[in-house]
Amino acid sequence: MCEQGKVYLVGAGPGDPELLTLKALRLIERADVVVYDRLVAEGVLELVPEGVSRINVGKASGHHSLAQPEINELLVRLARGKRCVVRLKGGDPFVFGRGSEEALYLRRHGIPFEVVPGITAATACSAYAGVPLTHRGVSRGVRLVTGHFQEGQVLDLDWRSLADPQSTLVVYMGLSNLQLIARQLIQAGLPADTPALAVQDGTLPQQRRVFACLRELPQRVARAGMAAPLLLIIGRTVALADQLDWYLADDDTREYGHVAAQRGLSA
Ligand code: SAH
Repeated sequence: MCEQGKVYLVGAGPGDPELLTLKALRLIERADVVVYDRLVAEGVLELVPEGVSRINVGKASGHHSLAQPEINELLVRLARGKRCVVRLKGGDPFVFGRGSEEALYLRRHGIPFEVVPGITAATACSAYAGVPLTHRGVSRGVRLVTGHFQEGQVLDLDWRSLADPQSTLVVYMGLSNLQLIARQLIQAGLPADTPALAVQDGTLPQQRRVFACLRELPQRVARAGMAAPLLLIIGRTVALADQLDWYLADDDTREYGHVAAQRGLSA
């Protein structure tokens, strides 16, 4: 499968190595070099065979992460050395993963590449919490948004369009702006008692979750001392976790059962 001088932009999934695709696993096993970042779980890296060089381009404590242009350049250089380069990215490479920026750079430099999709945090964290992203009669669609713009930029999302009670909103990188996000959504008309969920380290053994209504989510997340990587899921389907949760159901806090009952979501 590995031709020479090619870069594989591979989704490593959300953390649990069992959630890798077969294609990702085969490429990891055949790679000449693996370039990975902070979000790639230790359990996935353990699948890289002994002796294969691994290059960490993400932040490790005390070390600086490589800037994106340096990563792009590194991939080109490695591929020109006629190597099978596996660029491992957390979740899916094309969902807030900058995989597309790397692919554009590779294309500009004439380096062949393939993209291997991975399970993104939205589908993984929701599944592991018993929260369907859509549910007939409850949520007609899903929005995936970033909760963080580039350094120094104010988070200026289209709050009105996001405050839709008939769809599920998933916010990546939303921890630092959580208060703002909740306030803006409520101001834009999303009911303050909309069920919401924050998931830290989804699918990993150390996964943590907080269930709360939208109004209370920021305070509850702060009180629980939650940290990145953290995903927010906001919408009426979150209430279905009352019935559908199946994974580590003892570690969370829930207080919206009454909301589900009121809204007749218990069918
Ligand atoms: N490409 C990745 C997203 C990268 S952006 C994907 O498809 O999932 C990084 C953000 O993803 C984190 O800040 C967090 O919001 C989310 N994320 C990724 N993995 C996560 C996990 N295991 N648990 C919770 N959030 C996660």
